[in-house]
Amino acid sequence: MPPTTEPPDDQRAREVAEGLAEVRQRIRDACAAAGRDPGGVTLVGITKTFPSSDVALLVRLGLLDVGESRDQEARAKLAEVAVLLGGDAAERIRWHFVGRLQSRKARSVAAYAAAVHSLDRAALVPLLATARGSDRPPLEVFVQVSLDGDPSRGGALDRDVPSIADAVAEQMQLRLRGVMAVPPLDADADASFARLSEISTALQERHPGADAIPAGMTDDLEAAVRHGSTHLRIGSALLGRRPPVFG
Ligand SMILES: *Cc1c(COP(=O)(O)O)cnc(C)c1O
Repeated sequence: MPPTTEPPDDQRAREVAEGLAEVRQRIRDACAAAGRDPGGVTLVGITKTFPSSDVALLVRLGLLDVGESRDQEARAKLAEVAVLLGGDAAERIRWHFVGRLQSRKARSVAAYAAAVHSLDRAALVPLLATARGSDRPPLEVFVQVSLDGDPSRGGALDRDVPSIADAVAEQMQLRLRGVMAVPPLDADADASFARLSEISTALQERHPGADAIPAGMTDDLEAAVRHGSTHLRIGSALLGRRPPVFG
């Protein structure tokens, strides 16, 4: 993207620019420590609970991968960001849907998302595929795994991952990218991401192209990079602490 903006000139813009610079530095340091190329890690800015103006700031700073966890909030921001940035700039944003996906929202999400990180049941697959249609690039899909087997927090049991992945791979409107997980509360991040990496390796035996591993948030970014994360979903370190929310 060409540099299209003046240096940030108000306080929030400075805060967001600093947050982004710090996160990018953390990613470079984590990659250096792990002997990895930072080019292999995509930063997804998680903007839930923050205003559309923050999304616009991130995009102006060059961060085009943006994640939201609730469909209604994402839709509202999509419209507002198009006004703030203009349609052409807004079109370049890649929206990642990272929250729990309900059947009645699948159609809506498939219309605007570039990627869904949180597919956790096969029943959603035909809904996403039909809604996506064939006249657009395939919707990228990650299967979310529950590492503690507690499905109440989202995620499929790991024994169900192969059948869900097979269902995605059969749909030409979808592209199976890999497996995602959020470490269980109080779980050790390294152990959790090591387990996710094993699940990814097993998946790749069936689906060799499904080699992406979105893992890592503000508090466990370094551990995720050590275990092969390809997409870091970072909210608070970029934009500040938010009030507790679900999803
Ligand atoms: C909110 C959220 C994040 C970002 O969390 P931070 O700790 O603020 O970086 C990442 N992934 C998912 C699924 C989320 O819901």
